[in-house]
Amino acid sequence: MSYDYDLFVIGGGSGGVATARRAAEYGAKVGLAEFDRLGGTCVNRGCIPKKLMVYTSHFPSWFQDAQGYGWSEVNSTLDWKKMVGAVNQELQRLNGVYQRMLAKSTVEVIRGYAKFLDSHTIEIGDRKVTAEKILIAVGGYPTKPNITGIEHAITSDSMFTLDAQPKRVAIIGGGYIGVEFACILHHLGSEVIQILRSDKVLRGFDEDIRVSLHEAMEEKGIKILANSTTQEIRKTQEGLQLLGLPEEVTVDVVLTATGRKPRLENLGLENTGVELSNGAIAVDKYDRTTEEHIYAVGDCITHGEWDLTPVAIREGRAFADTVFGGKSKEVSYENIPTAIFATPEVATVGLSEAQAKDKYGEEGVKTFRARFKSTYYSLAGRNQKTMMKLVVNSQTDQVLGAHMVGDHAAEIIQGIAIAIKMGATKADFDATVALHPSVAEEFVTMR
Ligand code: FAD
Repeated sequence: MSYDYDLFVIGGGSGGVATARRAAEYGAKVGLAEFDRLGGTCVNRGCIPKKLMVYTSHFPSWFQDAQGYGWSEVNSTLDWKKMVGAVNQELQRLNGVYQRMLAKSTVEVIRGYAKFLDSHTIEIGDRKVTAEKILIAVGGYPTKPNITGIEHAITSDSMFTLDAQPKRVAIIGGGYIGVEFACILHHLGSEVIQILRSDKVLRGFDEDIRVSLHEAMEEKGIKILANSTTQEIRKTQEGLQLLGLPEEVTVDVVLTATGRKPRLENLGLENTGVELSNGAIAVDKYDRTTEEHIYAVGDCITHGEWDLTPVAIREGRAFADTVFGGKSKEVSYENIPTAIFATPEVATVGLSEAQAKDKYGEEGVKTFRARFKSTYYSLAGRNQKTMMKLVVNSQTDQVLGAHMVGDHAAEIIQGIAIAIKMGATKADFDATVALHPSVAEEFVTMR
């Protein structure tokens, strides 16, 4: 049987684009459907616009710090519309880059929402295409909690197009997206209140990270209502009122950041043999679904908590290498570094202390921890603390996890992640000469 394409990719986000290009490099005839802007969540509603807003939010503290170093006072105000305009202009540039990259790789892009008619046939608008192999890379979307008045709340998708800076914001959710927006908006000058179901921000992360960040956020003036849930959002003359909390909260914008879900509605999966597990596409270690020629990668699959751009890309490329490049590859989910672009920044790789103790027992784990004020803050006069921690196997001396809260944590942990991935021991860390004066040197001097 002959097909229109060797591979048809549904979704032009991080995973879909990387896979399509890699498969085309191996000589496959590739088509790709995208109903929205190319680049997916990361480029249009995630990592990139968020990071640009994080950068924007750093300036007020730097202006303040500069005075400690002898600079005169800086009086500067944010033009919100200008910032949103600049961010969106950059995203459009990236959309164009993706378009050109796909064209150069000879991937045919078909604009529209793709739906399976059967396991080899896809409908996109009034066009029907067939493919020998199909990759589902449809990503996910933010969900909202089921409470009265939730229609008044927005999700992270709307954060990059708000017309004006909200004066008062309530953020429901203490995961990484909620925390990042709490810090961004606070440092841009909004009054922020964050509402968490749990006792601290970032459930699931190392306890020292959670405590350090939670305390730092509160110290900076972000109000955190822990162990709290909102029962209702009511629109009043004064603003949006959140009911059921330990205190009265009225704000201009309510942002919910309580979870995301794979975008599998209206995809026609019922016309295929593709099965789900916990609402995501079930795949094997080669990202093959329960239908032999259909694969899936990224935020729409069951790969644990790893909904991250580099993971989606790696899964897609491993699939293309295996199926079209003749090199069998599977993705390792061990020691994936990840960051939370809060202020202060958080980054982590490997096991938390609790995870390590679950695996190796209380006696099987040693921890090393440092908490200090870095040299930069001495003249700046701010009391921002850096926290660094190593989790070590006490039998083998292997470093199982590295955790950091502080400036440039993401940049530092990316390097540490290589050592940890290679199986470095604490003795290897100690044998490395410190780079002085730096914050990162603490990772090789901890006792
Ligand atoms: P996506 O990038 O979502 O791409 C899926 C694409 O498929 C979309 O373009 C969608 O329009 C399209 N599509 C869906 N259904 C169809 C259909 N039926 N037909 C045609 N097209 C379809 N990750 C990081 O690594 N670092 C970060 O700092 C980071 N920050 C984030 C911040 C926020 C606010 C959010 C929401 C996410 C963030 N992420 C971050 C996560 C990251 O964006 C995702 O993990 C990544 O985009 C997943 O890639 P994907 O290819 O699986 O899906």
